[in-house]
Amino acid sequence: MSDRLPGFSTLAVHAGAQPDPTTGARATPIYQTTSFVFNDADHAASLFGLQAFGNIYTRIGNPTNAVLEERVAALEGGTAALAVASGHAAQVVVLQQLLQPGDEFIAARKLYGGSINQFTHAFKSFGWNVVWADPDDIASFERAVTPRTKAIFIESIANPGGSITDIEAISTVARKAGVPLIVDNTLASPYLIRPIDHGADIVVHSLTKFLGGHGNSLGGIIVDAGTFDWSTGGKYPMLSEPRPEYHGIRLQETFGNFAFAIACRVLGLRDLGPALSPFNAFMILTGIETLPLRMQKHCDNAKAIAEYLAGHPAVASVSYAGLPNDKYNQLARKYAPRGAGAVFTFSLKGGYDAGVSLVSKLQLFSHLANVGDTRSLVIHPASTTHSQLDDAAKVKSGAGPDVVRLSIGIEDKEDLIADLEQALGA
Ligand SMILES: *Cc1c(COP(=O)(O)O)cnc(C)c1O
Repeated sequence: MSDRLPGFSTLAVHAGAQPDPTTGARATPIYQTTSFVFNDADHAASLFGLQAFGNIYTRIGNPTNAVLEERVAALEGGTAALAVASGHAAQVVVLQQLLQPGDEFIAARKLYGGSINQFTHAFKSFGWNVVWADPDDIASFERAVTPRTKAIFIESIANPGGSITDIEAISTVARKAGVPLIVDNTLASPYLIRPIDHGADIVVHSLTKFLGGHGNSLGGIIVDAGTFDWSTGGKYPMLSEPRPEYHGIRLQETFGNFAFAIACRVLGLRDLGPALSPFNAFMILTGIETLPLRMQKHCDNAKAIAEYLAGHPAVASVSYAGLPNDKYNQLARKYAPRGAGAVFTFSLKGGYDAGVSLVSKLQLFSHLANVGDTRSLVIHPASTTHSQLDDAAKVKSGAGPDVVRLSIGIEDKEDLIADLEQALGA
């Protein structure tokens, strides 16, 4: 073997995987089992006491899922990762390690609609209070910091308008406040942006989207950058204080720069329970092998379609950071030089009715609530994903009544443009 460090495409195919030691199987087997036999009583006791690494029960870990975890950690440049059942489950597990009832976290206002709902309503019932800030106004994050702030949460490329977030600027605010920066990197994938390189302490994904990439399996993942010191001032007791769940062990002291990933597994996943099925882990791993190829095609198609729409007489505006005159183009050049992603919005001169009509006339585009599929997708956020928000909040989060969101797939771009042409023109 040469000393060369493997490149991104090589890691996407190989990281974490080896031929199966007993059968020689080259593809990662699906270890479809709930539980694993112990070598002997001492082995069992040491696994339960966190003195040894190994498999116990698939709610805590599984060898197929472990390959997925190692692969995504490698692609993101983190120390370790934990796979869970969905992107939303990843968000719950992360924040449960950081917040006590009555604590706060700051979140960018431009987020996936489901995350806005989760943060506003479900998390309130846990006593976790979200404070909103504007990702286009870095000072709004500084102003939102209080002694109870425990984390900052942003998206790298933000839903629904595909805007690019200034990760480094917000990471500076997080450092100053002494709290970790969590970046939801779902829309970018590590092929376009690696948030840890820009100061993120924790990365989360909905694997359901571009990483799995084929619209067939839900999953989520948490990547620990290994950069945050959890020991300061008893602020993060799940990590720094003796844990009664494990004979008084202190996770940071014991596990160092992957303590956060361990906390998510042994305190979060073990006790909350949103385990990823090994079958889904296998599907997502297979998807990741082609991530670099797919992502480049997604981006190239998206740019061509954004350009086409920008020149169409029925279109009022296009919000795609890959267009040279877009508000986020400078940030896109800095953070996502290979392409500005494949999810973006545009607005129609005909307003709400024109949005609803377009969605019903498209044929090749599927009208559904998902992004990051090989297939091209369309939705009208104001009447669906963002319908729970009031009108002002819809506009603020980039989902006004005239806005249509596209997730561009990997079909031939000429066919996608022809479909838009018939639907816009008819
Ligand atoms: C889909 C999505 C989520 C939630 O993920 P699920 O796998 O559906 O639970 C979170 N963030 C972003 C940006 C998403 O697109």
